[in-house]
Amino acid sequence: MTVWAVANQKGGVGKTTTAVTLGGWLAARSEPTLLVDLDPHGSMSAYFGLDPDTLDASVYDLFQARARDRQCDSARVVRATPFDNLYLLPASTALATLDRQLGSREGMGLVVAQALEQLAGRFRHALVDCPPMLGVLMVNALAACDRLLIPVQTEFLALKGLERMVHTLHMIQKARHMDLHYTIVPTLFDRRTRASIDTLRTLRERYGARVWQDVIPVDTQFREASRAGTPLSLSQPRSRGARAYAALLEALVDAPRAPARAVAAP
Ligand code: ADP
Ligand code: MG
Repeated sequence: MTVWAVANQKGGVGKTTTAVTLGGWLAARSEPTLLVDLDPHGSMSAYFGLDPDTLDASVYDLFQARARDRQCDSARVVRATPFDNLYLLPASTALATLDRQLGSREGMGLVVAQALEQLAGRFRHALVDCPPMLGVLMVNALAACDRLLIPVQTEFLALKGLERMVHTLHMIQKARHMDLHYTIVPTLFDRRTRASIDTLRTLRERYGARVWQDVIPVDTQFREASRAGTPLSLSQPRSRGARAYAALLEALVDAPRAPARAVAAP
């Protein structure tokens, strides 16, 4: 199983959209794919019609079980979506309390990695949607993933957010003695605006080959797809937005795989 994390400490940059749309493409290739919602807002779970306020089983249970030294059968938390080969490990709003409750406990950094290991025989890919803040959930995502995608909205304020994200990543990598391959994905690109064009140029100057060579354009159909609860790659595979994510997937799959993920318990 390949684990992809989608992270950025800034909100509204296209993290959830990236995870859902890539997940749709992978499922369309008949590759069993698990979407993992680690955002306490539960946007990805809500995308598929679940209510993160009332779920009876969610990622939160995995952390609770770990805190009580109990075994948790991760498969019990997995939900089917209405789409073939696409499954979801949902979030609940209770995740918002994790850092305060359990953040400083031993062994909390590898809960997601261990859950995904249990599920590795069943899924070809896992796509982890991260919350827009640094904490135990983001640390879990980074420890679990083989690949990291950092969506960056092509507007000036986004560059600061990216600096913060890359800084966080370096800190965690140093602490965990791991080396993670990351790809910056320029999103919400509008070629009619100076802000988009200038930000893209700056991104490439500063981050070079880390930046995917193409962009995800603004496409209003993303919003409609999310309202309808369907990945755009499945409902409108020929739309501009969906095709851009197909190109991204192709570039990522052709790219060399990351070195080994973290193995040491934090
Ligand atoms: P994040 O998860 O980083 O907070 P989202 O993926 O939820 O960001 O995107 C924020 C909003 O922008 C959503 O309403 C989404 O539908 C919309 N959106 C995301 N990507 C695009 C795009 N390429 N074009 C147009 N709208 C987009
Ligand atoms: Mg989101």
